[in-house]
Amino acid sequence: MPRGEPHPKFVRMAAHHHHEHSGKALSRAAQTTLEKAGEQWTAMRASVFTALAGFDKPASAYDIAEAVSKAEDRRVAANSVYRILDLFVGANLARRVESSNAYIANAHPDCLHDCIFLVCDSCGQTVHIDDDHITREVRHAAEVAGFSPERPVIEVRGKCADCE
Ligand SMILES: [Zn+2]
Ligand SMILES: [Zn+2]
Repeated sequence: MPRGEPHPKFVRMAAHHHHEHSGKALSRAAQTTLEKAGEQWTAMRASVFTALAGFDKPASAYDIAEAVSKAEDRRVAANSVYRILDLFVGANLARRVESSNAYIANAHPDCLHDCIFLVCDSCGQTVHIDDDHITREVRHAAEVAGFSPERPVIEVRGKCADCE
């Protein structure tokens, strides 16, 4: 995100703002990003992405395999979904929410941030915010401690506005 741009402090995963996509636009952005990485947007990968993006909380490979199986009326193995999720994470199409042990579609596959996740302990709904100032400080603090930060994981557990 360019410096000096007003920053929405609280953006739902599915909501639109300048760099975020949802629905068909999100799938298109994901496809473009994956193809730029030299990977093919196969029918199976498209189905897995659509299923993943349909969840408003982090989903496991099993959740997604079930959703794809249902949508396509054929049995899809969690193992093959898992491999695709791995590819998606590497290509910035999906993020692992570590404290939920599950995955979420990246609303901005075309833009690399250290996303901050807000995870509701009651309903599991997970929204994400980007605050490059905070995440830069986290990386900086790690570097000052002589550590090379590769992937800061910042997840806030609590109660969402619906569950409060
Ligand atoms: Zn983000
Ligand atoms: Zn909640």
